[in-house]
Amino acid sequence: MAEKLAARGLLTLQDLWLHLPLRYEDRTAITPIGALQPGVAVQVEGKVEAVERGFRYRPMLRVALGDDSFGTLVLRFFHFRSQQVNQFKPGARVRAYGTPRPGQHGLEIVHPSYHVFAEGEAADLSAQLDPVYPEVEGLGPATLRKLIAQALDALPPAEQLELLPQHLLAQLHLPTLRDALLTMHRPQRDDDVAALMAGKHPAQQRLALEELLAHHLSLRRQRIALQQHKAPALKGKGALAKKLEATLPFKLTQAQQRVFAQIREDLHKPSPMLRLVQGDVGSGKTVVAALAAMLAVEAGKQAALAAPTELLAEQHCNNFRAWLEPLGVRVAWLAGKVTGKARAQVLAEVADGVAQVVVGTHALMQEQVQFHDLALAIVDEQHRFGVHQRLALRDKGAGADSVPHQLVMTATPIPRTLAMAAYADLDVSAIDELPPGRTPVTTVALSADKRPELVERIRAACREGRQAYWVCTLIDDSDEVVAQAAQTTYEQLTAAMPELRIALVHGRMKPAQKQATMLAFKRGETDLLVATTVIEVGVDVPNASLMIVENAERLGLAQLHQLRGRVGRGAAASSCVLLYQPPLGQMAKQRLATMRETNDGFVIAEKDLELRGPGELLGTRQTGLAGFRVADLSRDANLLPQVHELADKLLAESPVLADRIVARWVGGAARYASA
Ligand code: ADP
Ligand code: MG
Repeated sequence: MAEKLAARGLLTLQDLWLHLPLRYEDRTAITPIGALQPGVAVQVEGKVEAVERGFRYRPMLRVALGDDSFGTLVLRFFHFRSQQVNQFKPGARVRAYGTPRPGQHGLEIVHPSYHVFAEGEAADLSAQLDPVYPEVEGLGPATLRKLIAQALDALPPAEQLELLPQHLLAQLHLPTLRDALLTMHRPQRDDDVAALMAGKHPAQQRLALEELLAHHLSLRRQRIALQQHKAPALKGKGALAKKLEATLPFKLTQAQQRVFAQIREDLHKPSPMLRLVQGDVGSGKTVVAALAAMLAVEAGKQAALAAPTELLAEQHCNNFRAWLEPLGVRVAWLAGKVTGKARAQVLAEVADGVAQVVVGTHALMQEQVQFHDLALAIVDEQHRFGVHQRLALRDKGAGADSVPHQLVMTATPIPRTLAMAAYADLDVSAIDELPPGRTPVTTVALSADKRPELVERIRAACREGRQAYWVCTLIDDSDEVVAQAAQTTYEQLTAAMPELRIALVHGRMKPAQKQATMLAFKRGETDLLVATTVIEVGVDVPNASLMIVENAERLGLAQLHQLRGRVGRGAAASSCVLLYQPPLGQMAKQRLATMRETNDGFVIAEKDLELRGPGELLGTRQTGLAGFRVADLSRDANLLPQVHELADKLLAESPVLADRIVARWVGGAARYASA
């Protein structure tokens, strides 16, 4: 049993206390059979009126129950033993629990839990609601319930269990941990079950507060731990960065200047920077990264930039080379496909410091990659990497005690509440302004049967010398199937518009071929690019002003926003057509409406949070957040200010208590955080 519990992460009594019910079954009352509603789980009691045992396609047992309310309910069984059949004698009293559904002869409950009373037997109604726990593989629900009940019997007195200051709980009108746990596991008949189901019960708020606090503290401790390390203070005058700025074909926006100034200030210090740059799609994060890299290079050290896809990394590399090589800065390129002699040469350049800036993919994080003197690690689109990957790059610093500064960039803005919770370990800068001269993208949603009309639109755009994307997506995300669909679309469009230069790019193509196709599109040598979502992140072709997205109803808001961000990068008015297959579900309708209404990534992120919840929004990095036991960031956002205040106090006044809170809630998950 211990093994089975351990497999689910349940090792201690405390783990059992925190294994909270998913929902409850209410056996505190009896509902008259005449008052049953389909779909609403209840407890009923009645006398057996008829029993029918038969075979239709499989063995079946039906028991009709009646009570004084003149209702009839059928209990239906597909699996049963003869002994069970014998229990159900006409006239026997039965108490059953389950969800009635419409059947052939009125309402029926399939496989209810039930009890057949013996002659003269009486049974009290339960005073508590019955908890239904998340399953533990290999343990029956009854066993699990019994184990947890035993664990709860061993709960220590409130004072001993409590880690939060008493006055604070009183001030917030929240119960002690002991009371909160008992309420969650054993709500009483007169507890506010509706509030409990909605997650708004003070008992839940109490637990959510402590859990959020624990998570926040663990991030803060991580940060404190990082700051124990030294980092190279990059104190140059910034001459190289100034030179770069002077050669750019544009002027930095106010927001870019502000964020770069913040980064510069961080890099001046002998402790490691850990800064997140949030900026909407197209806000110009790449050039800020390049400027930051120049501070490292000026100090005679190295900078690295990692991007999650090869396409994006390659584009960064091209940009960096175009910007930096004229300044005499050597930019090296490292990706999985760089192999053999070429790879050995790059690795050597990186190791002996000839390569001042290194751009690449995950390949940068591999063990064989040794830097001469890495001072700045930049990770683009960090939500696509896991924490450990980010850490792997950080660990490539020079000395045992020195770590590089870290700059992480995200293109998917995250709502403020979420950022507060998720990035407590980071300083956050926002590039909250787009470069001037951009016209907002006009977005329309069109039913897929309007597809033929789009041919004219594409023609018109291309006639004016502009370019277009046609993005193929499918519910089946296997590369092969999507590639096939893209191929078919490509053929259809080529047949419909023979005068246009049309190209195709998808994930199944060879990297070199992908790159050549993208480059040709970027150079304006093709008019229309039929693509899968490989172009989603980062691809930058300012002359493209029209995007068509197929099956848009199947994509999430963040992804749609990312895709749409591929247009509207130049001065020309751009548009985005979201093709959908009717009928639209409620969620899809709202998503498409949001896309039509706004181009603001931050607004879209808020809406996304509302529609999807935080777990999905944050993806891999915040596995801890997605795995909250009680807390729900969209529901409990109101607790966050208290969490922050409390964390400050605890860290200052009683770090030991802080450690215990983290250990209680985060436990194993915090292990790699301290790595
Ligand atoms: P993102 O923030 O989405 O990564 P990029 O860094 O790819 O955005 O920048 C988008 C485009 O805007 C690029 O073509 C870039 O050269 C251009 N750009 C960046 N900053 C400015 C600016 N201040 N003025 C004009 N164009 C800019
Ligand atoms: Mg980018």
